[in-house]
Amino acid sequence: MNAMERVTIDDLLKGAAKIAVTGHVRPDGDCTGACLGLRSYLLGLNPAYMVDVYLEPAPAVFSFLQGYDEIRLYTEGEYDLCFVLDVSDAERLGRNAALLEHAGRIVCVDHHVTNAGFAPESFINPQAAATCELLFDMMKEEQIGRETAECLYLGIVHDTGVFKHSNTTRHTMETAGALMEKGIDPSRLIQDTFYAKTYLQNQLLGRALVESIVFCEGRCIVSMISRKTMEFYKAAYEDLEGIVDQLRVTTGVECAIFLTETEFRVFKVSLRSNRRVDVSRVASFFGGGGHIRAAGCTMTGTFYDVVNNLSEQIVLQLESE
Ligand code: AMP
Ligand code: MN
Ligand code: MN
Repeated sequence: MNAMERVTIDDLLKGAAKIAVTGHVRPDGDCTGACLGLRSYLLGLNPAYMVDVYLEPAPAVFSFLQGYDEIRLYTEGEYDLCFVLDVSDAERLGRNAALLEHAGRIVCVDHHVTNAGFAPESFINPQAAATCELLFDMMKEEQIGRETAECLYLGIVHDTGVFKHSNTTRHTMETAGALMEKGIDPSRLIQDTFYAKTYLQNQLLGRALVESIVFCEGRCIVSMISRKTMEFYKAAYEDLEGIVDQLRVTTGVECAIFLTETEFRVFKVSLRSNRRVDVSRVASFFGGGGHIRAAGCTMTGTFYDVVNNLSEQIVLQLESE
């Protein structure tokens, strides 16, 4: 089924009373906003619903969102209905993939181009800038309160890099506009959750920029933060948010790679491109996924192995055009 057919959240509820909502590992703004926004919307429809949100710890800057303190980690429990949001494949659910086995009905709402429809029922629209934008289309506007609007607006802000990435459409802006009318404080939300950086985050950004390497005649840039550095700074993954985007804006760069060493010779790979390279294809080649201009995967080997393997795929695309 296609999200364009405008199936509403209300249509999907059909008698469900025990509802679970979950999203991908290392939740970002869109994932957290989508899960908490849907929770808040459902409870607004009927406070008698039982709505449990399962996510890995979400960044503390999102803690003002309604329901943040109610987020649970994992479950083996049974639910009538489970919403799987901003997730492109079952592996991205981490331990919460168990929910897929214990729910009566599973509905995935997502915007990743690499989502092949792993869930029994999927509403996938890669044209949407954010899962939060898709969710808005599935909600009744008059039923959206301020708390729900804050969540959805936050998701759109984060997945569009504050309305600047190429995924931002007229519809994205119109959705954001409608959400602004719900009484949220957009400037504050953008400043506090997107632009504000801790001293530690700025130090890590600085290090990543100083240590970055350009290659392919300046068309590619790569940087890495090692486990040793993470331990030295007592940093969390969320402290690295935005680094790859700063690499991407380097003049002349088409493709930016940022590696985070998660275990010995295991790297979380973040990829961004500006105009030509479809990084979702590069990430998919290595078992990951994402969007055309922003994607990721996990790779093993030394730093040089990983960069060589990635650059081979990137160069293939650069040379084919
Ligand atoms: P990130 O670089 O972590 O901000 O991720 C950019 C995009 O790629 C997001 O839409 C993620 O959902 C997606 N992504 C990142 N890592 C993976 C992965 N290991 N598998 C599939 N998709 C990923
Ligand atoms: Mn996400
Ligand atoms: Mn998203």
